[in-house]
Amino acid sequence: MQNFTDEEVNLAEQPSHPIPDPAIPSNLYRADRSLQRLLRRYLRNKPLEWNWTEDFLAEWGGICARQVEPLVETADKNGPTLKQFNRRGERVDELVYHPAYHEIGKLVYGFGLAGMSNQPGFRGLDRPASQLVKFAAMYLFDQVEGSISCPVSMTDTLARVLNTYAAPQLIDMYLPRLTSQDYGQLYTGAMFMTEKTGGSDVGATTTVAVANEEWWELSGGKWFCSNVGADLILTLARPEGAVAGTRGLSLFLIPRILPDGEPNSYLINRLKDKLGTRAMASGEVTFQSTKAYLIEPLDRGFVMMMEMVNGTRLHSGVAGAAVLRRSVIEATLHGKERKAFGLPLAEQPLYADRLADMIVDSDAATALFLETAYRLDKSDQSQSADDRILSRLLISLLKRYATDHGVKAAQTALEMRGGNGYIEDWPNARLLRDAYVQIIWEGGINMVAFDVLRTLERDNAWHIYAAALQAELAGINSPGLNTPVNSLRTCLDLLGREVERLMVQPRSIQEIAAPQLAEAMAALYAAVLLIVQAHDSLITKDPAAKRDLEAARRYYTRFLQPILEALKRPANTGAVHELIEGAIMPEQTT
Ligand SMILES: Cc1cc2nc3c(=O)[nH]c(=O)nc-3n(C[C@H](O)[C@H](O)[C@H](O)COP(=O)(O)OP(=O)(O)OC[C@H]3O[C@@H](n4cnc5c(N)ncnc54)[C@H](O)[C@@H]3O)c2cc1C
Repeated sequence: MQNFTDEEVNLAEQPSHPIPDPAIPSNLYRADRSLQRLLRRYLRNKPLEWNWTEDFLAEWGGICARQVEPLVETADKNGPTLKQFNRRGERVDELVYHPAYHEIGKLVYGFGLAGMSNQPGFRGLDRPASQLVKFAAMYLFDQVEGSISCPVSMTDTLARVLNTYAAPQLIDMYLPRLTSQDYGQLYTGAMFMTEKTGGSDVGATTTVAVANEEWWELSGGKWFCSNVGADLILTLARPEGAVAGTRGLSLFLIPRILPDGEPNSYLINRLKDKLGTRAMASGEVTFQSTKAYLIEPLDRGFVMMMEMVNGTRLHSGVAGAAVLRRSVIEATLHGKERKAFGLPLAEQPLYADRLADMIVDSDAATALFLETAYRLDKSDQSQSADDRILSRLLISLLKRYATDHGVKAAQTALEMRGGNGYIEDWPNARLLRDAYVQIIWEGGINMVAFDVLRTLERDNAWHIYAAALQAELAGINSPGLNTPVNSLRTCLDLLGREVERLMVQPRSIQEIAAPQLAEAMAALYAAVLLIVQAHDSLITKDPAAKRDLEAARRYYTRFLQPILEALKRPANTGAVHELIEGAIMPEQTT
């Protein structure tokens, strides 16, 4: 083999590889200007908290990119298995994970993401960390990982429910383990709610609870159980004799290991063979006189469970926003390096235009999730009914918007990488597979939209929503922004009239319109947040003010206006039945 001198090597032209393989930024926080700018606005008057937050997120943003990212593909390709029996034929139902799963677990739980909002003091704070910072940290994690983030979210939200509703002795017994940053000591959480009878219609739950002297005992089957090997499970069951529907359901906490060290009695029947989130175990479970603690009151089980569902919905929305951001990263890096027809793709008009749309949609989802987290903090602190209603509404709007747009962005980014995007060597396929479930679990698009309808009907939520947006717009005092601010005020009036019109329609029309209405409310809220951000950049003379104005303008024309237009289309309640009946011809009997 011929040897080259150093000089000859340096002189030789290094051709760029035709297939670019750019690494993601080495620090996901430092590389994310929008996230930093948006967060800073919420923490402007709290310099100490801002410094703490910057340090925390900058450290975590580096860990996500440099330590978590390299483990994710291995954990995804080597999913868990269920070992049901030991060699003596005894039933053990043990989950066996690849070491990469545990390595990721040590990083994410060790950094405190599952426990930080439920610990009395976290990392030098004299109180639990805010939802705002926790969800910003989850957003960084969710950009690289889409499986283990589910157990993390359930551990976080189960601890919150326990902290809010459980008896003090249960809190003392379990909260320290749920919030532990020591992976060996940690208890993870899960939520077994969906049965074969359906996940949307929770009132149809068939699991039965019987009170014995020491314990409640549950019998029945749960059909979808993520993090199925969890140490603590929240579930719903119907005490014998309780009324039908959600009102007759009670909330129970099931420990995997009983206080005497014996395993609790339930079977893991099998693991689901899933499209995505393949590193994490979702299974089917049968309760057989399974011992459980009742979380009182007996007749408020569903309402308390919804606290956990709301929390995991917010986690889902954040994951959707993270998928949007990761899609932007992939499509930008690829587009800058990949050449076709002699030019980088990102310099060609159509590629650049689609990428710009994805970037502003990502900005919108980021703004929306931070606002949702901020409003949850506000609601927790103020205990005001209006704050609670707005927080709840925003969680549904975020879930509706970001999970749906996340899938669309993941699909677009996959296609923008061309054939390679479809190949499992690249992250796009996993991103899309993992993103899909965010739409489904914690209530699909339709169910979340119904929740928005309910909030509008029952809680006078439109006025609370509109007042929040009017207050944001009233804070903008740059004459140069009068036109976009007035346009957004007009949109708010228009949407208000649509809501008013819809509220007096028959239920069928309301239901058909609900998903679009929820999307429009989310998009309008996001559009207002983007103009507020542009204004903030202008008045603080941020060099990126022009960029922020362009993001707000593009979002308004490319997203908000079409979404509002779609809302005006009359609901078609015509002959759907005939269409459905005619879709599949009946089999001929001869
Ligand atoms: C990977 C994975 C993990 C999961 N993990 C968990 C878990 O850990 N714990 C848990 O409890 N559940 C879990 N689920 C279940 C999930 O929450 C449910 O699948 C989901 O809530 C939908 O319930 P379903 O599958 O029974 O569908 P259905 O309730 O049968 O609904 C089917 C479709 O119809 C729509 N729909 C239902 N009612 C209406 C209506 N009135 N009008 C219009 N549309 C309607 C729904 O939105 C959905 O799109 C998991 C699911 C998946 C895929």
